[in-house]
Parts: sequence; C-alpha cells; structure tokens
Amino acid sequence: MEKKFAPIIVICCLLGVGVVLIGLGIGLYKTSTELNRSRRAPVKTTNVVLIVMDAFRADRVGQVRNGVPLTPFLDSLGGEAAVFRSAVSNCTWTRPSMTSLLTSLYVDAHQVIYGALVKEDPDAFNALAPEIPTMATVLKAYGYNTLAIQTNGNLFPELGFSKGFDVYRTSLDADATQVTDWALEEWNRARTPFFLYAHYMDPHLPYEPPQQHRDMVGYAPETLSNEERAVVENFRDYYRAHCEFMTGQTPNSPFAPLSDAGKEAVKLLYDASIRYTDDHVGRLVKTIREKAPDTLFIITADHGEHFWDHEFLGHGLTLYNCELRVPLFFLGAGVPPGEYDHVVELVDVLPSVAGLLGLPREHNWQGADAFRSEDKPVYAKTKSSNPRWNTDWEMVISEGKKLVLNHKDGTAHLFTFPQDGLESEDLGKEDPTTVGRLRELLRQHHLKNLQARRAKGKQAEMDTATLEQLRNLGYMN
Ligand SMILES: [Zn+2]
Repeated sequence: MEKKFAPIIVICCLLGVGVVLIGLGIGLYKTSTELNRSRRAPVKTTNVVLIVMDAFRADRVGQVRNGVPLTPFLDSLGGEAAVFRSAVSNCTWTRPSMTSLLTSLYVDAHQVIYGALVKEDPDAFNALAPEIPTMATVLKAYGYNTLAIQTNGNLFPELGFSKGFDVYRTSLDADATQVTDWALEEWNRARTPFFLYAHYMDPHLPYEPPQQHRDMVGYAPETLSNEERAVVENFRDYYRAHCEFMTGQTPNSPFAPLSDAGKEAVKLLYDASIRYTDDHVGRLVKTIREKAPDTLFIITADHGEHFWDHEFLGHGLTLYNCELRVPLFFLGAGVPPGEYDHVVELVDVLPSVAGLLGLPREHNWQGADAFRSEDKPVYAKTKSSNPRWNTDWEMVISEGKKLVLNHKDGTAHLFTFPQDGLESEDLGKEDPTTVGRLRELLRQHHLKNLQARRAKGKQAEMDTATLEQLRNLGYMN
C-alpha cells in the first residue's frame, strides 16, 4: 500500500511545493492583508471608533481657562480609559502623520511627506500608495462596515485615503457639531461590526470657535487695540508671514509683533476650540457607548501646535514637544484602563487595535502593540521642500532622551524626555555619548525604512475647492 502510493505522494508533494512557490511569487505582488483576507474570518465583532482631533496639543488635556475646564469629557475618562501620557506623532502635519497612524508605517516607509499637490511638482510622493493596507482595508477585510467623516483636505479621496471605506463623507467646512451629527447619522445606518472614523478640524487654524465657547474661556477682544484685534481674528495672515520669516523666506514679518495680550487672545481662541471639540467628541462617544457598549474608542490627534514655543507658530515646521506630543486614549471593549507612562507613537495605534480585537498582526507593520510593549525607541520626521515650510528635521526618543536633528542648519539638540517638557535645556554638547547612541538608532531606522519601503508613491491632482482649503490652512503657496 505504502509503496503503491509513494509516487503519488511524491507527485502531490512536488505539486504542493509548486503551488506554494507560485503562491509566494504572487505574494511578492500582493499585500499581506490581501493574503490574510482570503484565509481569515472575523475574530471578534467589537466595533471600532477612531476620533482624530486635528492639531490638538497634548498639554491642553486637563487644563482650566477662566475657571472652565478645557477637556471635561476627556477628563471624565480617567479610571475607565487607557491614557498614554507620552504619546508622540510620527510627523507634525496631517497627511504623513495620519498615514503613519492608519498604516503603522514610518514616514520614510510610506513616503507620504511632501507638501505640494500638483503634478508639476518634482516631489512626487504625496498621495497614499494604493498597495499599502490601512486600518480601513484591514478592518473591512474582517467584515467591518467602514465609515468616515473627513474634514481635512489633506486626507481627501484624491489622495488615497478613502480606500477601504464603504462611506467617506467629506466636508471642507464642517465644524465639531456637524462632524458629530454626521458621524451619528452614518452610525445609525451602519451594520455591526462597524469602524467609524471622525476627524475634527476645530483646533486647527484659523481658530474660529462659537461665541459661546469664546465667552466660556474669557476671550475679551474689546481689551485689545483695533489693530491687534484684527490680527488675532484673522490670524492666518499673521501666521503665514511668521512662518515665512522663521524659515528664512523673508527678512522681516510685515506685521508688528503681537503684544502679550494679543498672543494670549490667540491662545484663548485655540483653547475655546479645544473645549468645543471636547464637547462634541464627548457627545459622539457617549451616544455610541450607550447603544453599542461593545465598542472600542481611540481618541487622539495627528499632531500638536506651536504658540510661540521656540518662537514658532502652527505645526509641521519642527519636532518640538508642543507639536510632537499628542493625547492618546483607548476606551471601551477589552481596554485595560490605567495611565501608561511608556513612550508610544502613532504607528502603534493599528497594532494596538488589532491586539485588542484579537486580530493577527500584519507583517509589514512597523509599530508595536502599546499594551504589550515597554519603552522602545520612537521616531518622527518632518520635511518639506515647499518654500513656506522649507524644513527638514528628524528625531528619536530612547531611554529618557530625545535627539532632534535639524538638517537645514546641521544642528543637533538633546533633551530629557519627558521631564524637560518645554525643552529648555539642550544637553547636546555635554553628552556626546548619548548623541552618538541616538544617531546610531536613527541610522538603523533609516535602513529598516529602506527595507520596508515597498510603495512607489503616487501623485495627485486636487479640485479647486480643496486646493483653496489647503492654501487657507497654510499647506501650500
Ligand atoms: Zn493636522
């Protein structure tokens, strides 16, 4: 019997090996998710809600203005959420940062980095490459109904970000009230399990919160001169001029420097926007939790914002803590609550979600499951050849030290992280050993990114209205 079937077994084995080899060959041209998709059934039916609050500084969580808490909803989560107190973004402006969050790839691996959006621009790698799996494509492959409310033009379908979503509702001017209203509308129509992604733009320039929230935080423009009030309430123009000055594009800003009261008024408008966002994020989360308790919520930001910290304004120009650090909360189904102090980064979000849902890790992810990792090196980069930005920085944090390299001026800065929150003490000159160790980590990081790089990038052309929004937000010339 055995001898009789031996040749058949050999032939079957050879055929099997052949099939495997052909499969591997095909695999070179397929994403891991596509391969997994054909094999795996949904593991759990926990719903997922991802909430991104654009340009929301981590240090605003828990703050009080004019006797009014800025984040009463986020504050109320203490005790039942997992709060990561040392979370950083992998880039300090929306498109690359959100790509890292959605794909678990570092900037040099996904190559969504440059600011320009038109085909004529030589910096071609702008849009999310279609072959890279995202949180939406992964969850859709597991049977999720995928829905998004998108209000940042940097993440519009033309740039590849609607991939994997059944519904991708976009708006260039929806405020927090509308984002929550529309998210609830789509959620009411959704089937279980659902993945809902809501992106709130209110903390982003031009800082235009409702009057009620201006009053709440004590914004009092009547105390300013007419000239300063005009600057504060049309802050985008001042911001643009200041960025051009800070990046060496112009020798002087056309605006007189704002007084301390004027600067404080700008921060109050931002803080009012923070409170407004917190109110409506809270409304979204509470409503969904009540009716769908088996839901995992992730609440975070794509980056922070400068308010004259290190003399800068806005974001995307540097990797200082004010724009690098982000709030990061996990709440709901399966989340072990508590305050977590180890350093995590946005590339960790997708592996963490997979871990909480019981889904397998995809082999191309570069992040770690934040609930199963200890302190590890975290990395960020911001770079643009856009004349207004003209920036090229990278950084690594490891073992309590943060190395920041400014490649435009060739300087290296070393800070204690997170204790030196304001980065006021540069240890770069007195601790060359640590600088050398961190430089070596960055070198290894570059090599890993070269290995991970599989996408060729894609150019995109935007419609006029979106281009105008991006210009208004300061993303383009
Ligand atoms: Zn952003």
